[in-house]
Amino acid sequence: MHKLDPSLFSPYEKAFLSDEPLSRHAFSLCGGPCAGLLRVENGEMLRDAMERCIDRKLPYRVFGGMTNVLVSDDGFDGVILLNRSGSVSHSEDESGKVTLYADSGAGMAAVVRYCCENSISGFEWAAGLPGTVGGAVYGNAGAFGSDISQSFLCGTTVDRNGCVLQMTKSDMEFDYRSSVLKREAKNSVLLDTVFQLHRGTKAAIIAACEEHRAARKATQPVDAHSLGSVFKNPPNESAGKLIQAAGLKGFSIGKATVSMKHANFITTEAGVRAADYHQLVVHVQKTVFELFGVLLEPEIEMLGFEAK
Ligand SMILES: Cc1cc2nc3c(=O)[nH]c(=O)nc-3n(C[C@H](O)[C@H](O)[C@H](O)COP(=O)(O)OP(=O)(O)OC[C@H]3O[C@@H](n4cnc5c(N)ncnc54)[C@H](O)[C@@H]3O)c2cc1C
Repeated sequence: MHKLDPSLFSPYEKAFLSDEPLSRHAFSLCGGPCAGLLRVENGEMLRDAMERCIDRKLPYRVFGGMTNVLVSDDGFDGVILLNRSGSVSHSEDESGKVTLYADSGAGMAAVVRYCCENSISGFEWAAGLPGTVGGAVYGNAGAFGSDISQSFLCGTTVDRNGCVLQMTKSDMEFDYRSSVLKREAKNSVLLDTVFQLHRGTKAAIIAACEEHRAARKATQPVDAHSLGSVFKNPPNESAGKLIQAAGLKGFSIGKATVSMKHANFITTEAGVRAADYHQLVVHVQKTVFELFGVLLEPEIEMLGFEAK
């Protein structure tokens, strides 16, 4: 593990933790230590922190809510920038067109709440979606027939050389649970975003959000720790239905279990090992392939399992 120079993040001492277990921050409760973890409070701090890592040739990754990423028990030999930049604002024209500005570290829950409070429609589908705007854009998060690409207008990114770029919706090349940010080897980090939404009726927006939250609660293990859907749905198939048909509901390895409520979720308990979670992913893939000839593709990102 890199021993970090104490001056690396000297202006941000209070926000920095060295040799920090990622299991304390990951929604899956899994993950070994990282050399250093910085809680980033705004876009400027995020850019500065990235520059400091780039200058010192230190490996780094930017994470949001860690609700879609499984880090191995060996951890990450570099710096994790935990993005908590959270500003959200909007402007509106006379026709009711709303432009929403959000930092990439804003929680989707906070964005949905902001939309409810300000009678802004377009993000009702995201009620109950954990994680941040950055993570949602990276993986083109979606639910109930919609996804983040539907309202994405543009965003500011910064690449591994520190170059800042404005990216439009077409630059993002959104696809099912994917974007150019995800496909191009984690090279660019999203700083902020602009979304196109519209004015709606407060009561109707709140009612739609509540409906979506209730639908999640009825079908997903929302009270347990998980990373959401583990696998992408294969074309014209449901990953959950295939896993259920394979008889895997309730199957456990260590403290990682295929959810009884939704077979495409793996739930975890305190003390879970990332290795158990990973082994369970491989077991599910193998069993479904042997029974149905379908190779399930993970939707979650797994870091540090490459050579295993
Ligand atoms: C109970 C539950 C329900 C869920 N339901 C859904 C659902 O309905 N639909 C759905 O699509 N997903 C769902 N998910 C998965 C997850 O919540 C989403 O994928 C979410 O958008 C991930 O955001 P995050 O901030 O947690 O990303 P993280 O897990 O922190 O990161 C995921 C990836 O995004 C990258 N990333 C994060 N921020 C940035 C940034 N600013 N710039 C560039 N890259 C970045 C990270 O480097 C990492 O590679 C669910 C998860 C849970 C636990």
